[in-house]
Amino acid sequence: MTTPAEAKRRLFFALWPDEAVRRQIAALSRQVCKRPVPDANLHLTLLFLGQVDAAVETCFCAAAARVQGVPFTVSLDRYGGWARKRIQWLGPSAPPAALEELADALYLAGTKCGFEVEKRPFVPHVTLSRKAKKPITGPAPAPVVWHASEFVLAESVPSPNGVRYVVRERWTL
Ligand code: ATP
Ligand code: MG
Repeated sequence: MTTPAEAKRRLFFALWPDEAVRRQIAALSRQVCKRPVPDANLHLTLLFLGQVDAAVETCFCAAAARVQGVPFTVSLDRYGGWARKRIQWLGPSAPPAALEELADALYLAGTKCGFEVEKRPFVPHVTLSRKAKKPITGPAPAPVVWHASEFVLAESVPSPNGVRYVVRERWTL
């Protein structure tokens, strides 16, 4: 029998890059990061849910299916960082409204699932390294132009070699 703790999953909504976009982000990552996150882990978080049980996950999935998002293009054109957390990231200098609206809609969906999600200001970014001693900021040499036409619910799975992510569901924008 599973205990309640085992029944919970660490989940988040995200944009998941296709292979071409992933390769481009990885190339920009290599230019500034000594210890990049694995290419397979590159993603843009829309809403972090934390540990949730199956009932809450079901509620979020139903809510996600009702989100009226539209496809959009996001240009990842600048490096940024959070020095205290040793995070180096790549993000858009001008996030499209549709991206912010998607994150807002998912947040609203979350509140309707009776689940108190943490509301930090949304800073769209792709984490390139979690071990950046001196994250750099400024324009990227060339932007990664990402045509987003879907979003996903991903699970964060800890492992001895570091975290890995498993896409559990996808929704078309
Ligand atoms: P690790 O925590 O093992 O170093 P990680 O941060 O990539 O790896 P998670 O903590 O499971 O893995 O986070 C999954 C995603 O959600 C990441 O994109 C992370 O930046 C984001 N995230 C985690 N915690 C929060 C939070 N409190 N608020 C917003 N986003 C978060
Ligand atoms: Mg984390």
